[in-house]
Amino acid sequence: MKLYDTLNREKKEFKPIYGKRVNIFVCGPTVYDYSHIGHARTYIFFDTFSEYLRYKGYEVFYLQNITDVDDKIIKKANDLGVDPFEISKKYYNEYIQDMLKLRVNGVNLYAPATFYINEIIDQVKRLLEKGYAYVTNDGVYFDISKFPEYGKLSHQSLDSIKAGARVDINENKKNPADFALWKKRKEGEPFWPSPWGDGRPGWHIEDTAITEFHFGPQYDVHGGGSDLIFPHHECEIAQMESVSGKKPMVNYWLHTGLLTVRQERMGKSMGNVINIREILKEVRPELLRFFLLSSHYRSPVDYSPESLDLAKQSWEKIVISHSKLKSLNAKESEPVFVAEINRFRKEFENAMDDDMNTPLAISVIQSFIAFVNKNMEKFSNLDKESALTFLEDIDRIMKILPRNDSSVEKFIEILLDTRKLTKEKKLFEISDYIRLKLRENGIAVEDTSEGQIWYRI
Ligand SMILES: [Zn+2]
Repeated sequence: MKLYDTLNREKKEFKPIYGKRVNIFVCGPTVYDYSHIGHARTYIFFDTFSEYLRYKGYEVFYLQNITDVDDKIIKKANDLGVDPFEISKKYYNEYIQDMLKLRVNGVNLYAPATFYINEIIDQVKRLLEKGYAYVTNDGVYFDISKFPEYGKLSHQSLDSIKAGARVDINENKKNPADFALWKKRKEGEPFWPSPWGDGRPGWHIEDTAITEFHFGPQYDVHGGGSDLIFPHHECEIAQMESVSGKKPMVNYWLHTGLLTVRQERMGKSMGNVINIREILKEVRPELLRFFLLSSHYRSPVDYSPESLDLAKQSWEKIVISHSKLKSLNAKESEPVFVAEINRFRKEFENAMDDDMNTPLAISVIQSFIAFVNKNMEKFSNLDKESALTFLEDIDRIMKILPRNDSSVEKFIEILLDTRKLTKEKKLFEISDYIRLKLRENGIAVEDTSEGQIWYRI
């Protein structure tokens, strides 16, 4: 498998540090508001990535931080006149709810920054002892001039970063681009005691304190949105490699591209932010996943109702074929298609192995669906089984097939039996009514030679 590494700007063969064990860290959200579809894009991708590695037999530990103390949280709390922890608790919870709805469940551990204050303080202490940081009136800062490689991830020279740093009114800093490791307490802010007085952690230090605690100074994959490359991830490298003296901190830096809405950057000031819970009122999570995975994770993706509709057409074909296949009465004969099905599987894996090329993998799935539709009538039991297993493996990775709840499924079966009876008695008004009502509730029914089949849309 090959992965594109932002640091080296090339696809590299994937070799985990500890054999089959893979340690992944992805930057989580700052919990001060609802998550939007830009977040959905990043977290659905890394969920799919972690599931694909599991499918390949790796033992994955996927860790994600939660920034639960931050300027934005404090500002919102002060605006509303509530405790900052009330805000962070609420939106942390909302975030988890959104992720569960999106079926993002590949994360092994969510790590809120405030659970790691001791580790953060300890790391800042070591940076000070080694001479990489200094204390000022308002906090502790990392001295970027002590880390000449600062800029290597975003491919900027230290000089250009220094020149580009906006003139900072903070006269305590040695270089304008130096960043805070610890911020001394200000009125109305949450704080913890530290050797440098009461205060709170800077943003970048929480990630390296958390990853050092769980993974040690070096690990396999660090992910996040590409907007985090500079300065956030750059600062992480400076902190961790200075503290440990070990390079590189991370072997593969993976960054997701931007999500735009109707070709415009999504932002509060643009008034075009689409929250996950808003879109999920109209769109099935599995369709949203399919849509977002239809673009390569490094490419920009543009959202519009039209582009989603287009994705829906090809997504439905997969869902329908899967349903038909499930209810197919296959033949008791020798299998003839197994080798061909395995070829599709290999093609799918090749696409995913090539830097997680999900759009190519999806086109393989589409060819496979066309193949299934063409040959299904000739399938033997074993053909049916291997086709279904392939689709269900894909689903375990991408989670694009609507999930069925077995208790709800039973009721649908009862309704379909009733519909069958009413048709037999030629009570077509009632049978049509049942079909219409099911359709209104996202269940499509089709009459086929195999009887009634249903699927969620
Ligand atoms: Zn982060």
